[in-house]
Amino acid sequence: MTDPLFKKIALIGIGLIGSSLARVIAAKGLAGHVAIATRSAVTLDAARALDLGDSYTQSNAEAVRDADLVIVSVPVGASEAVARDIGAHLKPGTIVSDVGSTKASVISQMAQHMPSNVHFIPGHPIAGTEHSGPEAGFAELFENRWCILTPLPGTDADAIKRLAGFWEACGSTVEQMDPDHHDRVLAIVSHLPHIIAYNIVGTADDLETVTKSEVIKYSASGFRDFTRLAASDPVMWRDVCLHNKDAVLEMLARFSEDLSSLQRAIRWGDGDKLFELFTRTRGIRRSIIEAGQETDAPNFGRDPPKSGGPGAGDTSGH
Ligand code: NAP
Repeated sequence: MTDPLFKKIALIGIGLIGSSLARVIAAKGLAGHVAIATRSAVTLDAARALDLGDSYTQSNAEAVRDADLVIVSVPVGASEAVARDIGAHLKPGTIVSDVGSTKASVISQMAQHMPSNVHFIPGHPIAGTEHSGPEAGFAELFENRWCILTPLPGTDADAIKRLAGFWEACGSTVEQMDPDHHDRVLAIVSHLPHIIAYNIVGTADDLETVTKSEVIKYSASGFRDFTRLAASDPVMWRDVCLHNKDAVLEMLARFSEDLSSLQRAIRWGDGDKLFELFTRTRGIRRSIIEAGQETDAPNFGRDPPKSGGPGAGDTSGH
């Protein structure tokens, strides 16, 4: 048996991402000891019942004591409070990272509380589902997914290498990026699609000319695919919108312009324009499948309908 990568890993926040980390760390033997901290007694009890770690506490300061690696997995708006809790309790040389979906804001919240003798290296695994909480995690979540690290200039190269090695051991491929660039890229590939999904599902819910039961009944015609994204955690996505405000607003402005142009093409019967766009976008999906980031199974690999009417046996695809 080889030595674990880290003697002690502290996981602060044990929802979907934190508990998936706990599971893969255990499965691959990446730590000698896993300390788990979360805000509420209810979530802590759930983590204990699932046997996700070696020690459990509601105190962030207690969890990080003697840890070699600390990973913060809480909604991005809570990053500063966590950093303030742990700053004075980190041992020299500890690597402190996070998994937050926005990076510039997390850096401005956390860096100020990090002592100069620890390595603060922000990160973001590009992996997730619409489910949350410790029960929702699974060890394979990060497999064949990207993990983006956004180290600050001057960060110790060995520490970056150790953290990258950790994510690789979790199954991910690691890439480094400037935090502002990360926030613009994620605004288009993740944040905008979620905002569009929340909006379209909200619009359908508000429509009084179509009854609610018809929205649900005929949802397999397209609407259903938006509801998966729109079922994502409201706290997490509130924080993403508030903490990546500039990039999200920029992408929303571009989206609105393009939508107006599409609207004009429909109004004026410009079939060529519609056909050109719909052909181009089909190619994008093909590229995503070729890159191994999606299955090419029809209907997102959902189970075929079972008895009880069309769509009765559908699952969410996760
Ligand atoms: P989650 O399942 O909802 O779990 C959230 C965890 O954070 C829980 O342990 C919760 O503690 C704790 N928490 C919530 N509010 C807090 C607060 N105000 N102060 C301190 N702790 C708080 O969330 P998640 O999906 O794992 O997301 C965690 C982070 O990962 C977020 O920053 C998100 O942007 C990022 N991320 C998410 C995904 C995704 O698909 N979900 C993907 C990549 C990155 P209690 O339950 O004890 O209150």
